Amino acid sequence: MARRATVLFLWTSFIIITLGMGIGIAEAVRKDRYYFEARGDIIWEVPTKEKIIALSFDDGPNPKYTPEILDLLQQYHARATFFVIGSRVEQYPDLAKREVREGHEIANHTFHHSRIRKLSPEELREEIEKTGATIASVTGQTPHLFRPPGGYYDETIVNTAKEAGYKVIMWSWHQDTRDWSQPGTNRIVNLVLSNARNGDIVLFHDHGRNRLQTVNALKQILPELQHKGYQFVTISELIQIKNGSKPPLPSATNNPQ
Ligand SMILES: [Zn+2]
Repeated sequence: MARRATVLFLWTSFIIITLGMGIGIAEAVRKDRYYFEARGDIIWEVPTKEKIIALSFDDGPNPKYTPEILDLLQQYHARATFFVIGSRVEQYPDLAKREVREGHEIANHTFHHSRIRKLSPEELREEIEKTGATIASVTGQTPHLFRPPGGYYDETIVNTAKEAGYKVIMWSWHQDTRDWSQPGTNRIVNLVLSNARNGDIVLFHDHGRNRLQTVNALKQILPELQHKGYQFVTISELIQIKNGSKPPLPSATNNPQ
């Protein structure tokens, strides 16, 4: 009887401790996002009454897929945000210029896409500043938004980006297409369409491995969301709209060439 009670006691303790740890971890994750979000230091999405969505593309420019994506965006009068790698902008300056020329926003995603957790604050600052300078000299557009590689963030990363003049941008948790893992065109399409809400920031990649699924998914996502009444804006426009000012939205008659 005593042994039974001991076993029961051990099991109960185990369950309580495990549950406690689970709640603790969930709480830490939640606090993290709310903490940075409340201070306005990191943006995951910008909920709004306007029917607008911001598409974002990481890791480019890429000589094959970036032009294909730009063609599609142009076809649907969509503006987007490209989180570019500084070294790739040096390699493909014409693509970066085209992104800006066609009304898109260029944002900073470090110079080498290094493992951000292994960088010292000084190294990270250099990565960010070198990329900013490259973008500005190639395109004439000074970037103001920064997305850390891998979406990793902490207080030091946020402060380093902030000191360099950037706002840190993540993406809507319900709009992580995981297109880098090539989950299938249909899965990418279904995820974006079934989760679409006003003010979402959708995460795609225009560089990495084969991006055919991303391109093919866009061929369905763009017309379908447009049909549902959405307009596609840059992330800075999304933030401006939230703050009360209304930049002209992209439309058939207002397509920047
Ligand atoms: Zn990346």
